[in-house]
Amino acid sequence: MPSLESFFNQDWIVFSSIVIFLFGLCLGSFFNVCIWRIPRRESVISNPSHCPNCQSQIKWYDNIPVFSYLLLMGKCRACKIKISPRYIMVELITAVFFLIDYLRVVNSEQSFPTLIIYLLATSLVILTFLIDIKHKIIPDKINYTIIVLALITAFSLPESVGRNSHISGLENSLLGFIVSVLLLGSFSFIGKKLFRKDILGWGDVKYLGAVGACFGLIPAVWFFTLFIGAIFGLIFGVALILFRGKNIYSELPFGPFLAIGTYLWILCGPELTEGYFSIISSFAF
Ligand SMILES: [Zn+2]
Repeated sequence: MPSLESFFNQDWIVFSSIVIFLFGLCLGSFFNVCIWRIPRRESVISNPSHCPNCQSQIKWYDNIPVFSYLLLMGKCRACKIKISPRYIMVELITAVFFLIDYLRVVNSEQSFPTLIIYLLATSLVILTFLIDIKHKIIPDKINYTIIVLALITAFSLPESVGRNSHISGLENSLLGFIVSVLLLGSFSFIGKKLFRKDILGWGDVKYLGAVGACFGLIPAVWFFTLFIGAIFGLIFGVALILFRGKNIYSELPFGPFLAIGTYLWILCGPELTEGYFSIISSFAF
C-alpha cells in the first residue's frame, strides 16, 4: 500500500490511474460474464467463456478486454456472428467509473482504503443496474458477495469505514448492514400491508443492506440512495407514461434507480447532504 504522501504524488496518480483503468476493464469483462450467467443460474467460475451462437470456446487471446473486440471487429472468430457492443460498453463503463472513484478519493483527500469500498459499491451499482433493468431482479448472489467482501474490507482495513481498529471497523460495517435491513425491511413490510403492493421489494432491501455494509452506519447513505432513486424513478416513470403509452401500474424495477442514487452518493453525496442541512439550519436559526 502506498504511503499517504506518495498516494497524492502527481506521477503516482497518473500511473495508478492507468492501473485502476486496466483493472476496471478486466473486472468489467468479468461483470459481462456475471450479467449473462447469474440471472440464468449458471456458474460464473466453472465453464470457460464460449460463443453463445456456435458454442466454440473463446481462447484467452480473444478474451482480452476491448482489445480483442476491436481486433476481431466485433465478430466471433469461429462463426463470424456479430458480438453485441454491450460487452465492450460494460468494460469501458466499469473502467471509467473505477477511474472516477479513484480521482474522487484523491481530490477529496480520502484514505486509500476508502477507494476499496468505493470500488465494491461501484461494482454493486453496475451489476444491479444492468441485471435489474433487463431481468427485474437483483440476484442474492451479488448482494451477498458484496456484503461479505465489505465486511472483510471493514475488518482488515478499518479506515475504509472511518474506524481505527479491526473490531470497530467490522462492527460499523455489520451495524450498517443490520440496521438498514431491519429499518428498510420493516418499511417494505408495512408498505405492503398498507398498499397491498411492493413499495420496496426484498431484493431492494438486500441491496440497501449491501450498501449499508459498504459504507457502515451512515443513515444518510440510504436516505440519499432512496431519495435520489425515487426522484429518478419518478421522472423515468412519468416519461414512460407520457411517451411510451405505459400506464401507472406498469412494473418498473427500482434497483437501477437505487444504483444511480448510490453512485451519486460516492460522487458528491456527503457534500450535497451537508449543503442541504446547512441551508435548512440557516433558515431555522
Ligand atoms: Zn461463434
